[in-house]
Amino acid sequence: MFKFLKDKIGKAIKSISKKTEEVKEKEEIKKVKEKEIKPEEKKSLIKKIKERVTTTKISEDKFDELFWELEVILLENNVATEVIDLFKGDLKEKLVDKALKRGQVQEIIKKSLKESIENLFRFEEFDLIKNINKKPYVICFVGVNGSGKTTTIAKVANLLLEKKLKCVLAAADTFRAASIEQLEKHGKKLGVKVIKQGYGSDPAAVAFDAIEHAKAKGLDVVLIDTAGRMHSNKNLLAEMRKIIDVSKPDLKIFVGESITGNDCVEQAKSFNDAINFDGIILSKADVDEKGGAAISVSYVTGKPVLFWGVGQGYKDLEKFDKDKILETLNL
Ligand code: GDP
Repeated sequence: MFKFLKDKIGKAIKSISKKTEEVKEKEEIKKVKEKEIKPEEKKSLIKKIKERVTTTKISEDKFDELFWELEVILLENNVATEVIDLFKGDLKEKLVDKALKRGQVQEIIKKSLKESIENLFRFEEFDLIKNINKKPYVICFVGVNGSGKTTTIAKVANLLLEKKLKCVLAAADTFRAASIEQLEKHGKKLGVKVIKQGYGSDPAAVAFDAIEHAKAKGLDVVLIDTAGRMHSNKNLLAEMRKIIDVSKPDLKIFVGESITGNDCVEQAKSFNDAINFDGIILSKADVDEKGGAAISVSYVTGKPVLFWGVGQGYKDLEKFDKDKILETLNL
């Protein structure tokens, strides 16, 4: 995760700080160069300037020019424009028209980025197991096809089993061929029952059946798989709302694929508008070298990332950790 961003961000910070520190010096040297004096005199004056200029000040225009370098790197790594604007605003406040000491600018930039990223994730800590406060506790998973939803459900089921909580899976994706079988395969491996009906049946009815089953058997948690749908498809979004209305989940989780970057953020926005989900699981973080979605998705939706998927195995689900992001980015 962040392999590409990590390499580039450090270089950009260094380069911006160097250029910032040189602003005043360059202006003064330019003036000397324009003077009609002897070359030896010019040389000595320039030397003096280099020794004398220990602080600098940058204007807003100059800041925009300098920030551009970082902006491009963030854009290339799928950081959402809203988030880039936030970073820029925070940094501007600390750099523009301030007396900046030589040798301190790099630290100022690093600290500002660190604080900005920390602010993106200012959510109360989420503990899934502690959150399970009623029986059955119903969790509904939404997201587009191929985002890793089914695998994520299996990972969550595995986590619950490890905590001695009994669960049932609801195959409420009655739309995509093979989805029921796929969930059943996971159920079999994990030893968890899957409640299903045929393809084309009403997904809300499947979710309802699973909840009834959990009530009858005294199970702790119901995990509902829903059909992957594009965030632009109005009919499917309406159907998803019906599943929510019927099952009244205690937790609605959007599963997004980290590697799709801006697409993932856009999808999260639309799903959040449609069903106001509670949290996000980012899958495939292990194969995401950029990390822009992880940085952006919470800010854009106002919802926390709860976990991220870091592989295809059932144990490959980690609690989302902002400190890990900061550490990886060397901030
Ligand atoms: P769904 O269509 O949203 O239900 O997606 P699936 O659960 O079928 O996942 C699609 C593919 O992504 C499968 O090959 C999964 O093994 C893979 N996958 C899911 N989560 C992760 C993850 O965290 N890391 C990696 N590397 N692969 C994942």
